[in-house]
Amino acid sequence: MIDFSFTEEQELFREAIREWLAKNLPLEKVRENDEKHELPKSLLKGLGDLGLLCMTLPEEHGGAGADWVTATIAAEELGYADISIALPVFFLVQASWGFVVDRYCTDAVRDSVLRKAARGEAFIGIGVTEPGGGSDVAGFETTLKRGDGGWIVNGEKTYISGTAECQELGGGYFVTGYSDRSKGHRGMTAFYLPLDSPGVEVTKRFDNMGRMAISTGGFKMTDVFVPDEHQLGETGRGFYLTMEGFDAARILVSASCIGAAQRALEIGMEYIKERRAFGQHLAKYQGIQFDLAEMAAHHEAVKNLIYKTAWMQDQKYQKGTFTPLEVSKYISMCKLLAPHMAMDTFRRTMLWMGAYGYTKECPLEMGLRGVMSYCIGAEGAANIQKIVIARETLGREWTRTR
Ligand SMILES: Cc1cc2nc3c(=O)[nH]c(=O)nc-3n(C[C@H](O)[C@H](O)[C@H](O)COP(=O)(O)OP(=O)(O)OC[C@H]3O[C@@H](n4cnc5c(N)ncnc54)[C@H](O)[C@@H]3O)c2cc1C
Repeated sequence: MIDFSFTEEQELFREAIREWLAKNLPLEKVRENDEKHELPKSLLKGLGDLGLLCMTLPEEHGGAGADWVTATIAAEELGYADISIALPVFFLVQASWGFVVDRYCTDAVRDSVLRKAARGEAFIGIGVTEPGGGSDVAGFETTLKRGDGGWIVNGEKTYISGTAECQELGGGYFVTGYSDRSKGHRGMTAFYLPLDSPGVEVTKRFDNMGRMAISTGGFKMTDVFVPDEHQLGETGRGFYLTMEGFDAARILVSASCIGAAQRALEIGMEYIKERRAFGQHLAKYQGIQFDLAEMAAHHEAVKNLIYKTAWMQDQKYQKGTFTPLEVSKYISMCKLLAPHMAMDTFRRTMLWMGAYGYTKECPLEMGLRGVMSYCIGAEGAANIQKIVIARETLGREWTRTR
């Protein structure tokens, strides 16, 4: 029997976050953060107090022990409130990459960063993309060489979310590199890198076009000593841990995008019910209604896919009823569809508004700029999702590139 309802607890959870965000992060504040290029500390502390930061970690490790459906609700509500996507990014990188770090780290890492990140007193993110490219994870240049009691790491990571916040709050990144290049992607090893480690130089803050309230930067690693207690998982498993993290992040990315798209639709509907042209409200024109109907239908379809996928992710971790690759296929479908659906919703609702939609008096342009980051490629470009979907649908033997 299929049951599409949320539990009472999940409904109450959604209501509580929506209420808190409506009070503490109205769209005027989102605009202010976008213009000031920062997320106020009070907002981050508020998320920590609500139990949203690193909520997917077990309670005994400082998290809220939230399942993926519940984390997806949080991501959707954060996207609904902050259509610029800055706060959702802060939330989701920690809920996903913090989750993977927690699964494979030592207590030392847990104590030094994860428990603090869950209180909003540190930042944990992902640092895998390199100047040579982000999609081809196995083509990375970062190297790990054995030292006394740890690894000596050299390499560079770029387009990394949250570097400024990480410098300010403290914390670090999930990073991967080659510990044995001769083994291909089976020669990659993951580790936790505190951003203030000796030999790490934070390189720059990119002047992005959107999600301005959270930074995107980079860092160089020159002979950085990574103690064995900072290694994540077994030597040679870094590629697989990276894929596990991407899967977690992509569900939450997708949920934030549909939350933002829902808000765009609501803002758009409010407008067309007010604005008149040729003697009647825009909402009365079938040309506008058909546009709305298409967007509403796409939205519902993608939203259902995302919650089904979050449920599958829970089944995978709790019962093992789906394999990781079975779930990856659905996750990639979400990440393929949701950001583009959201960008399309912002673009189309902006068109309803005529010249007003092209100004910064209208909030929608922030959303267009924000969700586009996830179309461009943050947490994996669209074509990479297509590669995963094709591979898991057609068969690996037809899609192998190496
Ligand atoms: C705002 C923002 C924040 C980010 N934050 C982070 C972060 O926190 N941590 C992090 O590690 N990275 C981060 N990234 C980087 C992101 O993960 C990469 O942009 C993404 O992986 C794509 O890599 P790339 O930009 O180097 O593009 P490339 O890998 O060079 O790809 C360029 C284009 O080629 C296409 N392409 C690549 N390979 C194939 C193929 N085999 N077949 C067909 N088409 C292909 C891609 O779809 C894409 O359209 C962020 C990016 C952005 C925009």
